[in-house]
Amino acid sequence: MMFACVIHGARDLRVESREIPTPQPKEVLIRLGAGGICGSDLHYFHDGGVADFRIRQPMILGHEVAGEVVACGAEVGSVKPGDRVAVNPAKYCGVCPQCRAGRAHLCSEVRFFGSASRFPHVQGGFSEFFVAAESQCVPVTSGISYPELACAEPLAVALHAVNQAGGLTGKSVLVTGAGPIGLLVATAAKFAGASEITITDRFSAPLAIAAKLGVDHTLNIAERPEALKEFISDRGEFDVALEASGAVPALVNCFESVKPAARIVQVGMLSSAQLPLGRIISREIEFVGTFRFNQEYAQAVKLLESGRINVQPLITHRLPLKGAVEAFGVASDRNQAIKVSLVPP
Ligand SMILES: [Zn+2]
Ligand SMILES: [Zn+2]
Repeated sequence: MMFACVIHGARDLRVESREIPTPQPKEVLIRLGAGGICGSDLHYFHDGGVADFRIRQPMILGHEVAGEVVACGAEVGSVKPGDRVAVNPAKYCGVCPQCRAGRAHLCSEVRFFGSASRFPHVQGGFSEFFVAAESQCVPVTSGISYPELACAEPLAVALHAVNQAGGLTGKSVLVTGAGPIGLLVATAAKFAGASEITITDRFSAPLAIAAKLGVDHTLNIAERPEALKEFISDRGEFDVALEASGAVPALVNCFESVKPAARIVQVGMLSSAQLPLGRIISREIEFVGTFRFNQEYAQAVKLLESGRINVQPLITHRLPLKGAVEAFGVASDRNQAIKVSLVPP
């Protein structure tokens, strides 16, 4: 038997005892090394759903996971027991039109760990053991810690968002929202050559981390609602904005503070909004979405392993899987937590 962190509905998260799963021929059994709590996990916890996906049956949460291979199905050849792996939470069908067009992340049949987008829901990785397809496992050889390796997933989200923004070399970039994704988007934008990065948030603790990560300007718009307006009147408008908070006022700020012909990328989950859309026309603003990631997962693992991107400043807590309910409380407090990593037992 093993521990698993199961969501039953809004505010109903339980640590339960479950059978250890058995891998199928092309699957691998993995012992959890670490699992990062994501904003979407917190939405399931607080609201019983995220965007249009609602919890309709008990589901093990968790899609930011890494661990050690302990058993392999008969047809597995690329990993073996003892290997340390980052686990891509997405399994694609490989044959639908989107998969064939090279956009597997938009696959109509995708199975994503700990997501209620399909029914029955796809179980996640916040359990002592879980199975994944061989194709989801990316083995590593360095001594990188599991909490860092589990950040490959949100980093992949950030790399894909930056790819959706187009080339950033020499550009002035606004990121709204300094949660884990916003901070990683800022990091990825810097890595992609942005000349100047500004980030906004309503809390000062994550903005202090942003400064540590090398973000040029941090603006607290709760303390000073005019901070962004003053900033652009001093320094001009932004070439690109990436909206990573999922808050409508932040998106309005993006529309009002980018240059003509700029691109705005919506990263945060948002289902409806009243927006100054006249600007899309008169300023020829491009407004594009970004969803999860594709090739960027393997790239994220490489960037973390090589140390070219360092996520350590983001990992504020390592807490036991057994205490997942308390850990979700900690992760919900933006004044103290950025990334909370669940570790066994
Ligand atoms: Zn995530
Ligand atoms: Zn597909």
